Amino acid sequence: MISLLGIPYDDSSSYLKGAALAPERIRSALLSPSSNSSIENGLAFDQVGLVEDLGDLVLPLGEGHRSAITTAIDNLLQLGKKVVVLGGDHSISYPILRAYAKRHPVLHVIHFDAHPDLYDELDGDKYSHACPFARLLEEFSHVRLTQIGIRTLNEPCRRQAIRFGVRVFEMRDLPAPSLLDVDGPVYISLDLDVLDPAFAPGVSHYEPGGLSVREVLGYLQSIKNDIVGADIVELNPLRDYHDQTAMVAAKFAKEIVGQMVQNSPNR
Ligand code: MN
Ligand code: MN
Repeated sequence: MISLLGIPYDDSSSYLKGAALAPERIRSALLSPSSNSSIENGLAFDQVGLVEDLGDLVLPLGEGHRSAITTAIDNLLQLGKKVVVLGGDHSISYPILRAYAKRHPVLHVIHFDAHPDLYDELDGDKYSHACPFARLLEEFSHVRLTQIGIRTLNEPCRRQAIRFGVRVFEMRDLPAPSLLDVDGPVYISLDLDVLDPAFAPGVSHYEPGGLSVREVLGYLQSIKNDIVGADIVELNPLRDYHDQTAMVAAKFAKEIVGQMVQNSPNR
């Protein structure tokens, strides 16, 4: 059973708030009669026993939210669940992945994003949505990170990528999906601003020259590894038009679930 969990948090966003409103919009896109529940591999998102919606995590105010996230995810992993998180800004990936990294001696994170999110700190905040993968990799040296779609790699983040041994596929140098070739169990972290803003206007940071929805699906559907968890982050409904980006997030949620089930070793 795959657990769907909303984390309505955006206090670590450096530019605009709004991502805390996203889980509710993605859920209503998933249920919208404008589409149906079909997954491209033939499964259906609403088929019995596939996905349980746990609703939104209730977060304490202040710094305690990170440990609350880690504890909630850890409790689900203890029950043998795979979790798909609906964010929230990208800062939540660090507390989520702490729980995963503690339980998985081998873990490969595939990270879709326009931005490397590897800053040591941004605006004095070490837990900013620009920093989650720096925190993760300095705490867990066994975690491998592959980034796809990056198009803002500046000098500080380039140095961090080298320091942590991150495999960075920049937008100008994308691999064919079949060449992604990662080892071990996979966690997918999908920042919706990896898409070209033409496909996904409902994000805080517009970075032109990004992937199409179909290209992201091509990568997701090419993953052969056991997918143990995922997050879909950075939808900002305040910037969206007619839930266009929420529908994209819902589509990704369906396809990630489909790929999780398809690749599961104990299927
Ligand atoms: Mn990000
Ligand atoms: Mn981003």
